[in-house]
Order: sequence, then C-alpha cells, then structure tokens
Amino acid sequence: AQKTVLVTGCSSGIGLAIAAKLAHDEERRFKVYATMRNLDKQGLLVEAAGKTLGRTLEIKQLDVCSEESIKNCVDSIPDRRIDVLVSNAGVGLIGPIECQTIEEMKTVMDTNFFGLVRLLKEILPDMKKRKSGHVVIISSVMGIQGILFNDVYAASKFAVEGFCESLAIQALKFKLQISLIEPGPVVTEFEQKVFEDGMKMDLSAADKETADMFTDVYLKNYKQIFQSLGQSAEEVAEHTVKIILLDNPPFRHQTNTLYTPMTTLKYADPNGDLPIDTFYKMVFQHDKVFNASLNFIKLLRWRSKKSFDLGKPKQ
Ligand code: NAD
Repeated sequence: AQKTVLVTGCSSGIGLAIAAKLAHDEERRFKVYATMRNLDKQGLLVEAAGKTLGRTLEIKQLDVCSEESIKNCVDSIPDRRIDVLVSNAGVGLIGPIECQTIEEMKTVMDTNFFGLVRLLKEILPDMKKRKSGHVVIISSVMGIQGILFNDVYAASKFAVEGFCESLAIQALKFKLQISLIEPGPVVTEFEQKVFEDGMKMDLSAADKETADMFTDVYLKNYKQIFQSLGQSAEEVAEHTVKIILLDNPPFRHQTNTLYTPMTTLKYADPNGDLPIDTFYKMVFQHDKVFNASLNFIKLLRWRSKKSFDLGKPKQ
C-alpha cells in the first residue's frame, strides 16, 4: 500500500526537494502532502512536481506556528492517516545576541522547536493508536554542536534533539520510529537569506571587537564554508528518502561525511573542551590552518567527483 507522507516547508529548499523526490518515486510508493505556510509560493514546487501533481503529490496549506492551520490540514487528509511526517520547516538567525531582539529569537524557537511540538501533538496520537508511523525531522549538525554566532539557532535545534531523544523511548513502546536528519551546510534560500540578513544587521548594539568578529571573521568565511562543504537540497533529500525507506531507520543520520570529523570531536571528549578549542583555533588562531583544511576538503570533493565521473558508463 502507498505510504502517506506529510512534509512541511515545501515552498523551497530541502522540503521541496524531499516532496518532489518522494512524488517521483518510480514504484509510486508514496502519496505526498506537500505543505507550505503561504500557498502563493507554490510556483517552484508545482514546477518540480510536474506530472505528479494531483496524482502522487498534493499541495496543502500548513503553518507550523498555527495549531489551527495544522489541525485543518490533518483533518483534510483521508482518515487523518499520516504514515510518515517530515518536519522540515525552519528559520535561521545569525549574529551577536546583543543585536537580536527577543522577539526575533522567539520566532526561531517558535518555528524550529514549537513547530515540531505542535505537529506531534496533532499527529502522534493517531500514530500511537495505529501503532505505526515514522517521524523524520530535519535537524542539523548544529543540533549536536554549537557554532560561532549561531547561538539561538543552535539552541533551537538542540531543543529539537533533546525533545526527540526523550520521545524516542516512548515511541519504541508504540512501535513508532523517529529519525533526526542532520545536514551540515546546505546551499538553499535559507543560507542565502541568513547571509543577507547578517550583512544588513545593525551592529551598533555590539562592541567593536564583537562587530568586527562577526563581519570580518564569520561573514567572510561563511560563503567559503558553504562553497567547499555545502551539499545541495537534492543530496539531503536523497539521504532522507533512503532513511524513510529503511525498515529499521537510525535515530540519527548525518548527511555530510565531510563534516563528521567535526561532530566526532563532541563524542571524543566528555569534558566538551575539544570541539570548543578546535573551533576557536580554526576561527581565531590559525586562519592558515582553517584555509588549509578548506583546501583539503575541496581536494576531497574534487577527487570524489572525479572517481564518480570515471565510474560513469561510456555514452
Ligand atoms: P529554506 O528557507 O529553503 O526552507 C525552509 C522552509 O520553511 C521555507 O520554505 C519556509 O517558507 C518554511 N517555513 C518557515 N516558517 C514556516 C512556518 N511557520 N510554517 C511553515 N513553513 C515555514 O531552507 P532549507 O535549508 O531548505 O531549510 C529546511 C530545514 O533544513 C530547516 O529546518 C533548516 O533548519 C534545516 N537545515 C538547513 C541547513 C542549511 O544550511 N540550509 C543546514 C542544516 C539544516
């Protein structure tokens, strides 16, 4: 039987790529409810869905910050049956906390963390009753490890991870599955928007040293990190679909192997100093080391691309 999948935040980026990939499945194993807050922004999804629209893919309105909107959407689905929930909608925020308002920070928590909580309050009881269901959350490597000037965003993803770790124990009793997908940098509108907001940020509330650190160190390296380490939304979607198709999906899945050396530091030192020292040195002390490691990563990328090209059948 076809699995019904509800995906949030499908007007762009990873959500759009996941919805389209599932809808285009050759074996038609999925019926996708691709949802978005603002239906006026469905253009790109309609294009990506192509012939699947109205067949294996339906577009619906859903704002993760509104309980009413979530309930209306779920009620409109036959028998309210959702086999797989992909919680993807999210927003970013970078910069010194002195320059961010509490309201801006609350929006990040409300979308990234309470958005997931609202979805589960509506969907989990049905999954428990049926004793089947898979909750897939697009978290981030920043759900495991904080990064300079991403304080509130990382906090929102840590909240998601802690919440899911607790819930996963109960879920096991109901035979439900929970998977956290943890991408590293992904080149999407998100990253572009976050960067542009950072460039426009009013830094007058910060001292000069902090403001310079943000513009001269963080923003300067930002583009380079995305260019060298960044995955595409399609790559993340490919990983996510593989996880959805597994009989025994893992609780955590990192999509970017180039990033795993960084996240491994967290587990290598119970005192927690190793990742903090390493990030500090990378950012502040060894600009050269930082650039050298980026070059090394570029080389790895080039080599893996090259071997991939060599492996392609001759035309
Ligand atoms: P994106 O900005 O293209 O997509 C985010 C989507 O969420 C947008 O379509 C946006 O409209 C939607 N959204 C925001 N608020 C919403 C709300 N209240 N209700 C419903 N939808 C809402 O960016 P993306 O990179 O595709 O981000 C998707 C997810 O991936 C996010 O949870 C993000 O935190 C996570 N992520 C992104 C990166 C990255 O580098 N881009 C890395 C790791 C994790």
